[in-house]
Amino acid sequence: SDSNVEGKNFVIGTDTTFAPFEFRANGELVGIDMDLLQAIAKDQGFSVDIKSLGFSAALAALSSNQVDGVIAGMSITDDRKAIYDFSEPYFESGVQMAIAKTDDSIKGYEDLAGKTVVAKTGSEGETYAKSIAAKYGFTVKSLDQSATMAESVKSGSAVAVFDDYPVLAYGVSQNNGLTTVTEKVPGGSYGFAVNKGQNPALLAAFNDGLAKLKANGEYDKILDKYLADPA
Ligand code: GLN
Repeated sequence: SDSNVEGKNFVIGTDTTFAPFEFRANGELVGIDMDLLQAIAKDQGFSVDIKSLGFSAALAALSSNQVDGVIAGMSITDDRKAIYDFSEPYFESGVQMAIAKTDDSIKGYEDLAGKTVVAKTGSEGETYAKSIAAKYGFTVKSLDQSATMAESVKSGSAVAVFDDYPVLAYGVSQNNGLTTVTEKVPGGSYGFAVNKGQNPALLAAFNDGLAKLKANGEYDKILDKYLADPA
């Protein structure tokens, strides 16, 4: 372990609900991000206080040094690399579009003309949706929480949601009433972030712990726990 972090406590910001990466089960925050971070902290001898802030709030808290780090299914992008330092990538992701399972009117982006879609404030999904909105003639409404986004589509206040494909796929596998209709758009992989130039020891410890979890099989175990098909 890294003596620069040993015995220390770090405050880590995360999203409210971004299953299977962070979500509540029986009141407890669980998920791939939570388990990975706890396992890395244990390996490296530090402790964490998790703040379930919401995605854009977590990034704002990091920028203002109110948290030491963020783990939130946060994509490593060039824009963000200008203001944050990222760990090694720990999960491959990208954006996809989902619609209500009962909606047979939307087969692709062409069917979105004149309609409203939802995406999360400050997310890659929002950036992508906005980048094609004018071309296809739809409106992007930004919301703060993945749960609210899915609800909007089911209630019909939006026809589609743009979100990360592992998150959409997990929701669909849980029968959340949505289905995906478009190709995945490859995006940034997920990384743990610290504020630029701050907490290099925490970042190094995260990377060291992550490498160990990958080598000893615990990383795969954590992923399997949340992603393996329920029999
Ligand atoms: N991966 C996406 C991003 O970084 C969304 C993250 C999230 O909603 N928690 O923009």
